[in-house]
Amino acid sequence: MQKGCFLSVVVPMYNEEEVIEVTYRRLQAVLDKLGETYEIVFVNDGSRDRTADIVRSLCAEDRRVKLVEFSRNFGHQIAVTAGMDHASGRTVVLIDADLQDPPELIADMVAKWREGYDVVYGKRIERKGESWFKKLTAAVFYRLLRSMTSVNIPVDTGDFRLMDRKVSDALTSMRERSRFIRGLVSWAGFKQTSVDYVRDERFAGETKYPLRKMIRLSLDAMTSFSTRPLKIASVLGFVLSAAGFIYLFVVLYQRLFTDTTREGWTSMIAISLLFHGITLSLLGVLGEYIGRTYEEAKGRPLYLVAEAVNFEEEAEDSRK
Ligand code: UDP
Ligand code: MG
Repeated sequence: MQKGCFLSVVVPMYNEEEVIEVTYRRLQAVLDKLGETYEIVFVNDGSRDRTADIVRSLCAEDRRVKLVEFSRNFGHQIAVTAGMDHASGRTVVLIDADLQDPPELIADMVAKWREGYDVVYGKRIERKGESWFKKLTAAVFYRLLRSMTSVNIPVDTGDFRLMDRKVSDALTSMRERSRFIRGLVSWAGFKQTSVDYVRDERFAGETKYPLRKMIRLSLDAMTSFSTRPLKIASVLGFVLSAAGFIYLFVVLYQRLFTDTTREGWTSMIAISLLFHGITLSLLGVLGEYIGRTYEEAKGRPLYLVAEAVNFEEEAEDSRK
């Protein structure tokens, strides 16, 4: 069962006490029906509620349930990565804890895998119960990202997907810190296909992705899959300085050869504000890249594990 089961399901969790038990039951029902060996790897991303306790008791009653407990909150994409690091299945499924992605779809994904596909990702044809703001920003983001990058990242897909072991191994071998897993999967290539689904409402609880985390994820995606913002920055800089240079001649001509030289305070302020604004935002673009380069250069581990339950090979905490 442990080494080399057929299917590993990876579930990242952050404060999911209201849903996690139901999620387990629904997963179990679907997986039992498959008639194959499986494991469910729950990754607790530093929850401050009872999530870990609930999963721990599930671990006690079912050896196929495993828990990777982080030392603190490291973020969703890192939690998924840790789950994949610990998964031993021939195939690996990534699914959110909140039942927005229907576990029943796993059966269809497995069927596609048997047909010979290495990646089967869920494509959201509809999103229920999410605010218009989230839907709009998501739609804009996926399309913007697509136009910015040379990697062909499918629109309207989340992390809900099934991967063959070789794809999962490829992903876990990429230890970059700014992770955008969907992008990495596309980058990896292999034979990919999709299954359509309607994204349900969250079963219970609130989104664990506030605007701040959404922006961070989008910036990670942009910066790790595209250097186009840098190119746009330099093109913009070039165009603006050319315009400024031309205007300089106009001004000089007026001053030297005509008597129309104006007072000019308003135009000075306007130009100065415009240029400073643009300069600062372009510096910000540079900063996004430099900051990430710095993070990568430090080469710290992606996450720290406080405890791993039901992984025989892990060393037990000696205090227990
Ligand atoms: N999550 C996580 N760490 C975080 C934030 C979220 O592990 O810092 C998990 C969360 O428990 C859920 C998944 O990531 O299983 C997706 O989060 P959520 O459903 O809140 O995002 P949304 O569906 O609203 O985009
Ligand atoms: Mg959700």
